[in-house]
Amino acid sequence: MARGARLFRPGHMPPRSAVVQVKQAVDLERRGTSASRGYGHRWQKARTGYLLKHPLCICCLANGRVTPAQMVDHVVPHEGDMTIFWRSEDWQALCNDCNQRIKQPIELRFKAGRATVAELRLDRRMSWAFATTG
Ligand SMILES: [Zn+2]
Repeated sequence: MARGARLFRPGHMPPRSAVVQVKQAVDLERRGTSASRGYGHRWQKARTGYLLKHPLCICCLANGRVTPAQMVDHVVPHEGDMTIFWRSEDWQALCNDCNQRIKQPIELRFKAGRATVAELRLDRRMSWAFATTG
């Protein structure tokens, strides 16, 4: 009885060290979740740095157009693989139009096994995508 009463004593607080441990575990979990998504603060910094060095869409550039890059694309879909995610040699600066109109369809074919990694790199001539229709 005395033991039980002691456990549920009003005002009983866990030792401060236990509180600190729980806070650290929560913080670690939060960081882990952010890191596993990949698109946290570290990515924002890396993305900005990359776009400063590669300010133009490489796809437009290879096809005779000068367009500001709007995003950093992962050449190979990373699918949550952080090794692929952070491999900056496999990043490419694209405008939103090239990403949506050209990269995403190729990426779908790649995921279906019908496109190669080389096709995912958009710094090449693609007359089919840039044909002037009028
Ligand atoms: Zn473009």
